[in-house]
Amino acid sequence: MELPQRGLVVYTFGNVSAIDRERNVFAIKPSGVPYEDLGPDDMVVVDLENRVVEGSMRYSSDTKTHAVLYRNFPSIGGVVHTHAPYSVAWAQAVRSIPIYGTTHADHLAGDVPCTDIMSDSMIQGDYEEETGTQILHAFRDISYEVIEMVLVACHGPFTWGQTPEKAVYNSVVLEELAKMAMFTESINPEAQRLKKSLIEKHYMRKHGKDSYYGQKK
Ligand SMILES: [Zn+2]
Repeated sequence: MELPQRGLVVYTFGNVSAIDRERNVFAIKPSGVPYEDLGPDDMVVVDLENRVVEGSMRYSSDTKTHAVLYRNFPSIGGVVHTHAPYSVAWAQAVRSIPIYGTTHADHLAGDVPCTDIMSDSMIQGDYEEETGTQILHAFRDISYEVIEMVLVACHGPFTWGQTPEKAVYNSVVLEELAKMAMFTESINPEAQRLKKSLIEKHYMRKHGKDSYYGQKK
């Protein structure tokens, strides 16, 4: 329900899921139902092989992509997919989002990766499963626990986190970073990536073992 409130989706766009790691099942938004009509009983519960465990509605068409992420990223608890316009714009341009400033570095210490464009055989095959495969490929040298977001080329963003709330938060953050990076390039097409010392300073003061951002818990 937070996705339309934050302006990240319109109509039935996008989807969210949340996993129960003890039972190895996840609940996901049903396909094609407007957010304002959704209630807890409408969620479809599926296992990691995409078999419906509970629920009478058809699950989100992107369910197989979520399952790939849950199977391969064992510490995540939620996955979000939106068609938020600034994030989608970078995905359609098939470009990773460069880390241009400290707002970006406050959240992640590197570029937001963009996948390769899918081959025709992948598109004509098990498309949603292959979308997950493309994401895994983009993360072969990146930790999914450090960068919790990706752009699927020509399509749009997927984000994740230890909880579904964190995954939604990451979608909101990604949209802001995408917007800021686009403005940066429109003002100065030659803009440089943030220098390493500033990346480390901003990332570590919020996430390092000696972090000092926010209030002590
Ligand atoms: Zn989509």
